[in-house]
Amino acid sequence: MKDIVPAPPPVVRNDFANVQALFQRYVVPSYGRFDLAFVRGAGSELWDVHGRRYLDLGGGIAVNCLGHASPDLTAALIEQSRQLLHISNLYYHEPQGRLAQALVRRIGPGKVFFANSGGEANEGLYKLARRFGHDEGRFEILTAFNSFHGRTLAGIAATGQDKVKHGFEPMVPGFRHVPYNDLAAVRAALSPATVAVLIEGVQGEGGITPATPEYLLGLRALCDEKKLLLLMDGVQCGHFRTGRFQSFQRLLEGVPGSERFLPDGVSMAKSLGGGFPIGAFWVREPHADLLGPGMHATTYGGTPLACTVALKVLEVIERDGLEANARNLGAWLKAGLEQLAAEFPQVIVNVRGLGLMLGFELAPKERVPGLAGGAKPAAAQFVDLLHAAGVLTVPAGPQVVRLLPALNLTQAHAEEGLATIRSVAASVLRS
Ligand SMILES: *Cc1c(COP(=O)(O)O)cnc(C)c1O
Repeated sequence: MKDIVPAPPPVVRNDFANVQALFQRYVVPSYGRFDLAFVRGAGSELWDVHGRRYLDLGGGIAVNCLGHASPDLTAALIEQSRQLLHISNLYYHEPQGRLAQALVRRIGPGKVFFANSGGEANEGLYKLARRFGHDEGRFEILTAFNSFHGRTLAGIAATGQDKVKHGFEPMVPGFRHVPYNDLAAVRAALSPATVAVLIEGVQGEGGITPATPEYLLGLRALCDEKKLLLLMDGVQCGHFRTGRFQSFQRLLEGVPGSERFLPDGVSMAKSLGGGFPIGAFWVREPHADLLGPGMHATTYGGTPLACTVALKVLEVIERDGLEANARNLGAWLKAGLEQLAAEFPQVIVNVRGLGLMLGFELAPKERVPGLAGGAKPAAAQFVDLLHAAGVLTVPAGPQVVRLLPALNLTQAHAEEGLATIRSVAASVLRS
């Protein structure tokens, strides 16, 4: 038999040009990628195809919460894969039930639906909201400018950033955007069709902007008053990233009147599987049975393998005190970044975030000698310079550089990261 596609030559040398050539020839070019190709990792360290070592402060965009090649996750993957990888959601299995129980215990009374990604988890929330308002003809969901809710067709309609929508119009109807942290704007935007408000507790892609406690409490009261669902996208800011399981638990800590605060729905993904794909949404008790048999489904959602890994992630976070590490090391890193902002005010103009979800905002690039001549936005250039210095971070929009490291980041690695950021900040003072 004649091969339709000739067999590729074996990859003998995993060098960068070969890997990049494969992508250029065969992978849809929908990402602007950095010129880096990785082969392996351990904890917060990664090695590229040239054998060069990097410190990873991006964590796969808030995914690798236990770092790379966690022996605990490897063991869980091997053990469970010997038993059962997948069975249909037509049947029961213990890991899914136990993971749902573990998430409910950490958020509040309700139930959980499992999906495979953040975008899909949010799709479930949109359907929940539509179902909730259906009999009254209500369907509209208000979201915030600068939000990010994923790249599905409804996800780009929900996302409050034009750059994800361009070229894909017409948008899925039923989404409108309002300024973030502005309760009056939500109230003013309500229409008879409004059924829900969806926000991130800390905007991630939008530049690391936390919700204020007044905003969260105000939204809860407004949603109760108008019979709306308050939905929170915890895909990036959830899973202990802020130093509590969900960001609202951290943001409302010690705030009077917040003791009984709960949203009506929370989406999760990213760190939930620590690198193994899994997404989920939690729905609060009174609405937990809104999606009945046959109304929502996914083949892969909540497989025995994914749920076993996610349970192991939770177990290790607890065993190793990583909630406290996110909080304490995060506070140390933030203080260090603030010190850099004070030292280099011509370069770093603002530091935001909490726990191990931090961002520093760069000055307009025209004002920074070492960035003024470059074609890319300030944040992408700064990230490139950090790569050259051996540290991985992630841009959040044109001006902000984000740190989303593993929750088990060590003090030594945090110090190394900060020292490298300092040297790059000093270097861009010169052209
Ligand atoms: C990453 C992200 C998503 C999308 O998750 P995917 O797994 O890429 O679909 C949605 N919301 C937020 C806040 C995110 O950070």
